[in-house]
Amino acid sequence: MSLALFRWSVILTCLFTTVAFAGESRPRRQKVKAAKLVRVEGGHRLHRDTATALERMATEATKDGLVLRVTSGYRSLREQRWLYEEYRRGRGNKAARPGRSNHQRGLAVDLVIGQRTSKRYLWLEANACRFGFRRTVPSEPWHWEYRPSSTFPPVVGFDCLGNPTRPPASPEPVARKDPS
Ligand SMILES: [Zn+2]
Repeated sequence: MSLALFRWSVILTCLFTTVAFAGESRPRRQKVKAAKLVRVEGGHRLHRDTATALERMATEATKDGLVLRVTSGYRSLREQRWLYEEYRRGRGNKAARPGRSNHQRGLAVDLVIGQRTSKRYLWLEANACRFGFRRTVPSEPWHWEYRPSSTFPPVVGFDCLGNPTRPPASPEPVARKDPS
């Protein structure tokens, strides 16, 4: 191998390694511009798209006599780091690694749920997909994420769990007409 060729192969190897490494270690796009954050219920902040969808969902829930309360919305890297450290120390709820949480993008929202059998939780399970929300962490029934591009509304007449939204119509009694 000539010296020139050797040099080139070293340069190319370095370049390739750098690119591959950058691709692997590059964190997912987490930052959300402050201008895109809006205040929601409870003083929390969310991405404006998430906030709009949440407001629509909350309005619908109100019609069914339920109030949706937010306990956590957007988190800065610093806040996520603190929560993660607390979790690692055995305090507080499970928290994603800093840079890996959709709370940092303003797309995740934690709601007051109560038990998994609570009316509020059952309502969300049956309706949240209509507004682009879905659960992404099986162990956290309070954690909902706004993912409209991959969350689909149910077929008309069914809820998000595939259950019919109306009881099946009972057959109309047939009025018999006696021939006169
Ligand atoms: Zn959460």
